Order: sequence, then structure tokens, then C-alpha cells
Amino acid sequence: METPLFLYNSYSRSKEAFKPLDEKNVRMYVCGPTVYDRAHIGNARPVLVFDILYRLLRYLYKEDNVTYVRNITDIDDKINAKAFERGVNIEKVTEETISWFHKDMDFLGALRPNHEPRATDYVSQMKDMISKLISSSFAYSSEDGHVFFEVEQFSDYGRLSNKKLNELKEGVRIENESTKKNPLDFVLWKPSNAEEPGWESPWGRGRPGWHIECSAMAKDILGDQFDIHGGGIDLIFPHHENEIAQSTCSNNMKKFANFWLHNGFLKIEGEKMSKSLNNFLTVFDLIKRDFSGSAIRYNMLSTHYRQPLDWKFERLAEAEKTLIKWNNKIDSKNETELPRQILNALLDDLNTPQSIHEMHHLFNSKKFDELRNACMFFGFSSKDIKKNVLIPADLSEKVDKLVEKRNNARLSKNFSLADKIREDLLSAGIIIKDIGQETTWESSQKLKIKKLREL
Ligand SMILES: [Zn+2]
Repeated sequence: METPLFLYNSYSRSKEAFKPLDEKNVRMYVCGPTVYDRAHIGNARPVLVFDILYRLLRYLYKEDNVTYVRNITDIDDKINAKAFERGVNIEKVTEETISWFHKDMDFLGALRPNHEPRATDYVSQMKDMISKLISSSFAYSSEDGHVFFEVEQFSDYGRLSNKKLNELKEGVRIENESTKKNPLDFVLWKPSNAEEPGWESPWGRGRPGWHIECSAMAKDILGDQFDIHGGGIDLIFPHHENEIAQSTCSNNMKKFANFWLHNGFLKIEGEKMSKSLNNFLTVFDLIKRDFSGSAIRYNMLSTHYRQPLDWKFERLAEAEKTLIKWNNKIDSKNETELPRQILNALLDDLNTPQSIHEMHHLFNSKKFDELRNACMFFGFSSKDIKKNVLIPADLSEKVDKLVEKRNNARLSKNFSLADKIREDLLSAGIIIKDIGQETTWESSQKLKIKKLREL
């Protein structure tokens, strides 16, 4: 008998055998990006983790029988703030960010989901859901145009995050001006002022809260109940807790998603990623530093998805070397059968580090055909392995700074300084490319580390 797929279900806090509701329509929803800025590698983690799960589901149930939905949150106050800060309209911010997101995730070899719904296209479904919640007394509207979900009405509230209502209450900020009955009640709809994006509704002109966006898009595309809902661990509370409350109550179902999967946090060189530490690392930063998408995937998947991941440049450089070594030995024949030991590792709650360990074994025992099949499954494509010279992280930062200095010089029309920086970098083996508004750079085979240090 075929070994079943076991997945750790955050809802039951245990590994369970996965059985889809319908083998001919295996359904997965993953919370996607809020589109106001470049994706950082913490955003890339769920994309790559659920890409492996998507590939595995397609392998087990056949491609046509799997539906993967990953939404785009294009209604959010962070987007409004970004548009205001840049002095552009909201669509400019969202369209640009979506195109960056696609380019970056394509670069990482992540398969596109079957559906990428945008919140702005589902506002009427959100309003329907909110109306249902109000008429069944799970939600209430206030005079100032807010609609709140009343958590006391839903007895399972806190079940996913394993918290009792009174424990949760202690962690909530009390807002004096709020018209909520209970500080834990969360927003389904909020009023918009003239400058904010808004839609007409029975509660006045306003916009949906973030949580209801996912509930409405998941229902519309996947139905009232489906198999897997995923996202980062930081989404368990309140986002996923609130999605469960809204969806089970408005759909009048006992369950929303059968399996809840969450990937762990990501740190950089042992530190939390934060604007104040100035260590925010975007996927685009890595592309500019000339790392291959495959090496980034390899590095990301070397840690089990539920474990915290410590991103280290040293390991990324090692990943690049490993993939060059492997790809020198494997051909590009198109065979899809996964080696048994690797399939077994994946069936055990997506054990990707064990899979990679097995791939090293395959290489060492010269089983290059099996290694090729595994590399193809994992998206470690031979095409994008860079053979360029790797550049140490501190120098990479130095180049970033010089490129920025050059761009500032160009903006202030100091073209002689801009040209000098470009020529200095070129003499050290760094090539600058201007593509539209963006400037990228790459290290050439003629990289001169010593010269670069002296710049
Ligand atoms: Zn969501």
C-alpha cells in the first residue's frame, strides 16, 4: 500500500494523514502578499514551502486535480500609506509591486498558482459575507460606519491559536475611541474618508478589513470547505483565527479548511529582520548580488519548514557550489519519477532537509539519473546556475552603496561623478546595468576583490 502523506496540522497540533475531500479536486489556499513593497526573503519562505507542497500534491494526485489559490491583498492601509508617501495613486503602487513579486518569484522557480485573486475584484462577495454575518448575529455595525465580528458569539474562537478568550483579551490594546463591544472584536468593514479608497455599502462608503478578504476569495474559488490553508506562523493569530470565525459562521459549516499549515520565522545571520537593524533583505537584493534562484531555493529548503530559518550568506554560497557540482554530472532528460527515499521524506510532513541529504547520497553513489529527477522536482534547474564569481557580503554592500551614490549623482545631474563611479566599478570587474528605473549590477569573471576593497 502506498504510504500516505502526513502533514502537521496546526489546528490539531499533530501530524495527520492527509486525505483530500475530493481526490479529483485537491484544494489549497495560501495567504499571499500585501502589495506595497518588494518581497523580502521572509515573504519568499511561504512561497517556496507551499511551492514544494503544490508540486508534491500534483505528483500524488496529478496536475489537473490540484487547485492552488494564492491571493493578492491590494486593499490595505499600508498600501494607502505607501502611495501617499510616494505621491502616486494606489494602482501605481499595487501594479508595480505585483509585477515585481511575479518577477522575483519566477526567478526563484516557484510555480504560479492556478488562481491569484485580487481583493479589489471580490468586494461584493465580501459585502455579502458581512451581511450574512450581521443577519445571523455574529457581527454588528456601529454608527460611525464600522462593522465588527463579535468573538463572544463564536464558541471555537481561539481554537487554532490554542488560546482562551480571557488570555487573548490581556494581549489586546484597548482603544478608547473604539465602538467595539469587546476589545477582541475585529473589523469586517471600516469607513473611508474622501482620500481613502472606498466602496458603497449598506454601512456607508468604506473598505473591507484584511481578514474578510481571504475568507471571501477562498469561498468564491474553493467553496465553503477545502483541504489545506497555509501561511506564515505569524498569521495564526489573529488573521487565521479570524478567517475561521468568519468563514465557518457565514458559511454555516463546522469546518473551513481541514488542514492548517504554517511555516516558521526567518532570521538573517542570527538576527531578526527589521528596518531598525537595517538588515531587510529582499529577493531583488539577492538577484542583484547575482545568486541563482536555485541556490536560494536550496538554502530555503535546507531547513524544515516548521523550524525557524537562519539565513546565512555563507550557506547560500555553499548551496551555489553544490548545485554547480551536481549540475555538471546530470543531463537534462525529462523524467519525473522521484527516488523512493526522497518521496518518503516528503511524505513525512515535507521533510525537505532530509530530501536534500538524500540528494547528496545520490551524488556520492553516482546515481545521477535519480539525482536529476530529484533536482527537477525541487526546481533546482541547471539553466539558472550561475558560474559567476561570488562576491563576499561586505563587498556586495559596498557596491550597493556606490551604485546608490551614482544614482544620486545622476539625479543631481553630477554626471562626471556618476561616470567616474561607473568606471571605477568596471575597473574592479563590476558591471552596472540600468533597466528602466532600476539599476542592477553583476560581478564579472574579471572581478578584482582587492581593487574593489580600495574603492
Ligand atoms: Zn489570508
